[in-house]
Amino acid sequence: MHEHLFTLTTEVELNYPGGWDEEECVADAVRQLRRLKERGVDSLVDLTVLDLRCCISRIQRIAEQVDVNIVVATGLYTTNELPLQFTFQDPATSYEGCEVLVEMFTADIEHGIADTGVRAGRLKCATDELGLTPGVERVLRAVARTHRATGVPISTHTHTHARTRRGLEQQRVFLEQGVDLARVVIGHCGDTDELPYLRELMEAGSTIGMERFGINVILGFEQRVATVAALCAEGYAGQLLLSHDTCAFFRWLEPARLQAVSPNWHFLHIVDDVLPALRARGVTQAQIDQMLVENPRRIFESASLPA
Ligand SMILES: [Zn+2]
Repeated sequence: MHEHLFTLTTEVELNYPGGWDEEECVADAVRQLRRLKERGVDSLVDLTVLDLRCCISRIQRIAEQVDVNIVVATGLYTTNELPLQFTFQDPATSYEGCEVLVEMFTADIEHGIADTGVRAGRLKCATDELGLTPGVERVLRAVARTHRATGVPISTHTHTHARTRRGLEQQRVFLEQGVDLARVVIGHCGDTDELPYLRELMEAGSTIGMERFGINVILGFEQRVATVAALCAEGYAGQLLLSHDTCAFFRWLEPARLQAVSPNWHFLHIVDDVLPALRARGVTQAQIDQMLVENPRRIFESASLPA
């Protein structure tokens, strides 16, 4: 429910091309998704949005070659300021969102991204260490308003260190915009084992993304697994999602360095390593199905409901 195919900075690639082979990377992404399908995974959500996104036609090329449903998202990834273009186009000071962004996100959902006809199935926004800067707050409110108008569910990025409790700030802004928090997935919650914080997010109604399995430099494998097992034992399986937040192609680190830092950060880690570890800690198959099948289904089915 939270993965990426290509993570890169398009403007950098356009101005400083080279250093990687697009054809090979597309072929490699196809191989990775085919292996995922062999393990029984039918669908993947690519939450890459503006400011990290490659052209959507590259995703289409991959989708045409695999038997995996790829759901793409719209939104804007910023952890501080709005791109200046939007500030100039929409110099609102009320922080009621950003009209230009609402129009863009809505068009991606209703008509398709960049005239491809590929329509976005999720909305994405981010807060990080800096918290609710004016730019971030306008994106959150624009995402919330688009959600209210279209019914498409919201997913977020939060600051890696959950002690900043950024997810609660996001919930507050969404509530102010009239969003039902049951339609919101608070992301990157797998980076912490602070159970009181995670319970608080879920008690307010949200589903939480227990994601970034494989990035053990942030939180170790054992702690990640133990946290999910503890929450399942407490009866929260209905509000948990499991993801890697990994990428088929991650331009920001050399492959050898990435392999050295996070060797298990790949699409198969959950199926091959995390699920057996969860079972060993008493998580039932019914709870695993709940997290991997039923919860995603509920989130997407709710997209057809009025927000
Ligand atoms: Zn992500």
